[in-house]
Amino acid sequence: MAGTWIEVDLDAIIGNYHEVIKRLRPGARCMAVVKADAYGLGAIEVARALERDGCEAFAVTRVEEGLILREHGIKGLILVLGPTSQEEWPGAIAAQLQLTLSELSSIAELNEVCAEKEQHLPQQVQVHLKLETGMGRTGFQFSEMEVLAVALAKAPHLQVVGVYTHFARAAQRDRNYTSGQYERFTTLTAQLEELGIRPTWKHVCNSAAFLDYPEWHHDFVRIGTLLIGHYPGPGFREKLTLSDPWVAKSQIVHLREVPKGTNVGYQSIYRTKAITQLAVLPVGYADGFGLAPHFMPQGWIDFLKIVFKNLAALFGIYLGQEQVELNGRRVRVAGKIGMQLTVIEVGMQECALGDEVRIPLRRTGANPRIPRQYKQAGQMVSERIMKEGVLAAYTECSLQGET
Ligand SMILES: *Cc1c(COP(=O)(O)O)cnc(C)c1O
Repeated sequence: MAGTWIEVDLDAIIGNYHEVIKRLRPGARCMAVVKADAYGLGAIEVARALERDGCEAFAVTRVEEGLILREHGIKGLILVLGPTSQEEWPGAIAAQLQLTLSELSSIAELNEVCAEKEQHLPQQVQVHLKLETGMGRTGFQFSEMEVLAVALAKAPHLQVVGVYTHFARAAQRDRNYTSGQYERFTTLTAQLEELGIRPTWKHVCNSAAFLDYPEWHHDFVRIGTLLIGHYPGPGFREKLTLSDPWVAKSQIVHLREVPKGTNVGYQSIYRTKAITQLAVLPVGYADGFGLAPHFMPQGWIDFLKIVFKNLAALFGIYLGQEQVELNGRRVRVAGKIGMQLTVIEVGMQECALGDEVRIPLRRTGANPRIPRQYKQAGQMVSERIMKEGVLAAYTECSLQGET
């Protein structure tokens, strides 16, 4: 089958997990953040591999993500980080997901849902309190502590197992801001304790804070980025030995020799400068190829770079044009990336229909429809295929020698 697919090396993820856990403070555990389909790698496979390796806790943003993990056999703690809605609660409670509380009004309502006998739900739901300390997103604030304590005292079906906050600038290594957030967290939790709320666990660290502030590991660190083999920012390089589990590949589906001066693609922004070969790949921006998040320039140098790049483009010089790798050599994308097709200029190097090409595809931007193939010890162990946005097939491959 010609096409585009993604290979995920589960051994690399496990290796990254070990790099994390061997640096944990005594008493701290790693909560693997597998939100957004494990940053595009595939939440089920990643969570399964980690759980087999001893990981006991997972985090996702939404209830449906947690339910999918439970349905696929994940036994460990699953924390839902994002806000949840009433319709989702019975399902979440039945599946024993842990929920994040960040809003006063939900406390009595959630308690009510647990109390309803007809639903045959577990009588307790485990919750984590989210505190707002500087992210400006969700969480209880200073002024709400007393009302929060009163509301919780009237909600016997809620078991407060955790309290946490999330750092906004840890990846930028903004020590002032991050320490400020941590201080507010400490003040807020102390106040809660005075009011009689003593959650079992505290957790504050994401990947960046885990690296920079070992003294803040507490009971859990919530790690996503490091597990998928990335550093949270440029300043962290070489701190751990990480490996990238992700390779996106496509295949040449059309190949043609063309003369000098051939226009390529929409708006003919690309024109060949000599006799050459053009190859077509079945991948485009509908698959997430060529899509990058919009970054605000970080300072003057960055701003000038952006201006320069755009000026050069006016004169037909494409700086930072996407490149792919064919037989170990870098090859340029010719012209605009299409919806589902992309042309590359391969020059006169020898190549053929069906040749594999490695493509730079952002993990979180890659369309879930692209099949994921999972490898362990160099062998393919399973494959995931989505159709119409839902899981169509999970094929567990038999290892060589077995049938
Ligand atoms: C995404 C997320 C994390 C993980 O952050 P990384 O930097 O990817 O490790 C931790 N905590 C919360 C609340 C998150 O949303």
